[in-house]
Parts: sequence; structure tokens; C-alpha cells
Amino acid sequence: MVGEKIKEILGSLPDKVKLCAVSKYHPVEMIQEAYNAGQRIFGESHVQELQQKHAMLPSDIEWHFIGHLQTNKVRYIAPYISIIHSVDSPRLLNEINRQAIRNNRQIPCLLQLHVAREETKYGFTDKECLEYLRSGEFRTLKGVLVSGIMCMATNTEDQEIIRHDFHPANQFFRQCREEFPDLADSMHFRSWGMSGDYKLAIQEGSNIVRIGSSIFGPRTY
Ligand SMILES: *Cc1c(COP(=O)(O)O)cnc(C)c1O
Repeated sequence: MVGEKIKEILGSLPDKVKLCAVSKYHPVEMIQEAYNAGQRIFGESHVQELQQKHAMLPSDIEWHFIGHLQTNKVRYIAPYISIIHSVDSPRLLNEINRQAIRNNRQIPCLLQLHVAREETKYGFTDKECLEYLRSGEFRTLKGVLVSGIMCMATNTEDQEIIRHDFHPANQFFRQCREEFPDLADSMHFRSWGMSGDYKLAIQEGSNIVRIGSSIFGPRTY
């Protein structure tokens, strides 16, 4: 069942678009099923849950952190996390840098842009994000690699509103690559699109979609 969903979704994605299977709140058995179908990238949004799953599941899984990350929890995941999608402040980036260096690593990080109409979503405004990049501070952080932009659209069925959220994120991404040519090599990921909006997200330039419920079914919290 899970395996079939994975194959169906992979079959519908253009070649250059990666699938991050969002497994939060789902048991390790279901993740193992997806793994057996060939899926290797999984997204989680709670540190404790991720710690448990990481310990129980195959070591060649690429774990992606996609939720709001508290600075005091970075150290738990720093040894193994593949990408952190949801970096929403310079302070968090500094802490990821510190913990990455302690682990002799460089951790790819995506800067989360706040594009949704809701006030509750975390992230930089594009102005804040640009100011931060222009400050050049990130260049001193040898433990992190600024690897792209992430965003979440407004929680709505209205496709035009969603498109309106993704579009500026894509423009912002392009602007960054132009303005900071030294970032262009590492700036690769455009992380937007979830179960309800990933097709639209791909039209608007996404190259990594984070899909949960369409693979694993509804979550029970
Ligand atoms: C839960 C979550 C998803 C997956 O959502 P679905 O609607 O189940 O596909 C994607 N991105 C983030 C940041 C999430 O927290």
C-alpha cells in the first residue's frame, strides 16, 4: 500500500524533482515499507521522534528535518541529519554551525521564507532573508552550507492563493543566485509543495516536494 503510493507519486514527478516522504507521526513499520519500495529520503519535524526512528531504521536513510527546530535541540540531530529545511533565524543557523563543527560536518540548510498569509508560520520575510545574506555573516559559518529556500503555502484550497505564495519564493531563489554568485554552487534546493499542492509547487519551480498524507494516509496526533 505505502509502497504503491510511493511508486505512483515518483512516477508523476519530473526527473529532477526529489521526493521527501514526510513520515512524522507514522510508525517505523510504515517507513520500512516505503524504504523497501526504494524510498530513502524521509522528513520529520520533531526531534525526539526523529531520534527514535533514526535509531531503529536502516542507516542509509537520508533524514531531513522539516519542522520548527529549537536551538537547544540541534545537538541531538547534528551528527546525522542530511538537510535542515526549516532554518528560520540567524540564531538557529549559528547553532547548527556550532554543532556541525563539533561533529566535523557541514550541514546543508535551507532558509525558510514566510510567504503564507497566516501569522503562525515561521520563517524569514524575503526582506529579512536578503538583509541577512547581504550581511555576509553566513560565509563565516564553515559548518553550514546554504543550500536553498523552503516555504509553506497558505493552508487553503484556493489554487491562486497557493500559486501566489510559491511564485515569489521562486523569484527570491533566482535573485539570490544572481546576487550571490558564490552561493550558486550550493544553492540548489527549492523546497515547496506538500500533498495538496505539490503539482502546483512543481509548476512554480519546486525541486523537492515534502509529501506525507498522500503516501502514509492521515496522521493521528
Ligand atoms: C507535515 C508537513 C508536510 C507534509 O504534509 P502533507 O500534507 O501530509 O503532505 C510537509 N511539510 C512540512 C513542513 C510539514 O510539517
